[in-house]
Amino acid sequence: METYESLLTAITPPAGTATRPILNPATGGTVTAAPVHTVEDLEAAVEAARAAQPSWAALSHQERSQVLLDTADAIDRSAEALAQLLSREQGKPLNGPNARFEVGACSAWLRATASIELAPEVVVDDGETYAEVHYRPVGVVGAIGPWNWPMMIAIWQIAPSLRMGNTVVLKPSEYTPLSVLALAVVMNQVLPEGLLTVIAGGQEVGARLASHPAVGKVMFTGSTETGKAIVRSSADTVKRLTLELGGNDAAIVLPDADPRAIAQDLFWGAFINTGQTCAAIKRLYVHADIYDAVCDALTDVALATPMGIGTDEQNLLGPLQNKQQYDIVARLVDAAKESGAKVLVGGNPDPRQPGYFYPTTLVADIGNDNPLVAEEQFGPALPIIRYTNLDEAIELANGLDAGLGASVWSSDRKQAHRIAERLQAGSVWINAHGRINPMVPFGGTKQSGYGLEFGVAGLKALGVPQVISG
Ligand code: NAD
Repeated sequence: METYESLLTAITPPAGTATRPILNPATGGTVTAAPVHTVEDLEAAVEAARAAQPSWAALSHQERSQVLLDTADAIDRSAEALAQLLSREQGKPLNGPNARFEVGACSAWLRATASIELAPEVVVDDGETYAEVHYRPVGVVGAIGPWNWPMMIAIWQIAPSLRMGNTVVLKPSEYTPLSVLALAVVMNQVLPEGLLTVIAGGQEVGARLASHPAVGKVMFTGSTETGKAIVRSSADTVKRLTLELGGNDAAIVLPDADPRAIAQDLFWGAFINTGQTCAAIKRLYVHADIYDAVCDALTDVALATPMGIGTDEQNLLGPLQNKQQYDIVARLVDAAKESGAKVLVGGNPDPRQPGYFYPTTLVADIGNDNPLVAEEQFGPALPIIRYTNLDEAIELANGLDAGLGASVWSSDRKQAHRIAERLQAGSVWINAHGRINPMVPFGGTKQSGYGLEFGVAGLKALGVPQVISG
């Protein structure tokens, strides 16, 4: 079991390694130093992963699943230390759907991934032809992750990769390397050597991972722009890719919804992780009949939800993780204000407050072409757009290049289902948003990416199909 202090010691790089300080986005203070790994370090990690892979792949699904279960136990034993580090580095509060929740999701996802059955599929057996599909390991998987849910998204990449007999080299975001290094320290207490290596480097390390001839597949979660760069870097080696990219999810609230009854779920559908979540509500379309009532109910929830330093137990919302993201949110809210949109709450950051805190912000009476609606704000600012014609609202919801998630809010589930079928998004939730589950496939459409994670589909994505017939 690690304590917070012992975790910090465990991730301290050996003397002679180049390092840089990692800042706590809530205070501006230093958490600790992170190593600056190089492309040479990456080469060594890929070689170790390549060497370790055949004996790992030779184990049965059952044996590998048992190892995943053991890593889940190891995470649970060190859960509080991991959450303390995650909160300090990423900024998210310990409580609410934040740091402790994220660490809990890591072990839960490992256990669920270990439990999935994946037998060869007999596709034809008609007396004349017999054909079955197997899923062979890809080999070495390169994983590249973002800074918003650094541990959980790392597990989404690691768990199915290992389960399928692959080994993993993972490059975390430059903003949150400590959390992922610490997660790997804990997992490597039980994993055989060479199966999981974290290389805390910059873009050049990511680009090399995406072009490396010994890497069979890249799992990428991050922005659409970087996703496109990865497609280009991976082209020469025809690598397999799973791309979980940016979103700008719409939610449509129908006139029969009860504003007070849905306000909490709507709020957290938008503001989970202080809005820094890929599949969060980023555009809220509300029917004119209940527009004011929904705005009032959301304002009440916003005012009652405390934001502050993550390690203070009462807080449920935190800072933006980095200055770049803070500047995006500030720019988009300023543009909305200048356009004449009405700020219901927030929009007024305190320049004397240390850290990257931007207050919870609700913006009403805003046009659909406003940048706060059209661009992914990825922070605690939600535009609320009034509609009167449902077909038009669906058209607006479908009007962007992004297509990750969407949701429909109504007391009539059948009607909500019919609307869901018309929405261009990889996941559509009814009376919820972003409710992911390790057994339910998740992935984007349009420029939100391709490939599925989770469940059986997620396991298959980490294998190479092989058909044996005759
Ligand atoms: P980002 O694209 O800036 O960075 C992601 C990772 O890519 C980092 O590790 C970065 O170092 C690396 N990278 C940068 N340039 C690279 C290159 N040329 N080649 C290879 N790797 C490179 O994304 P971010 O700002 O960390 O994350 C926020 C974005 O991620 C948002 O758009 C959000 O919607 C998206 N996201 C999507 C999902 C999903 O499941 N679809 C989940 C979380 C976040």
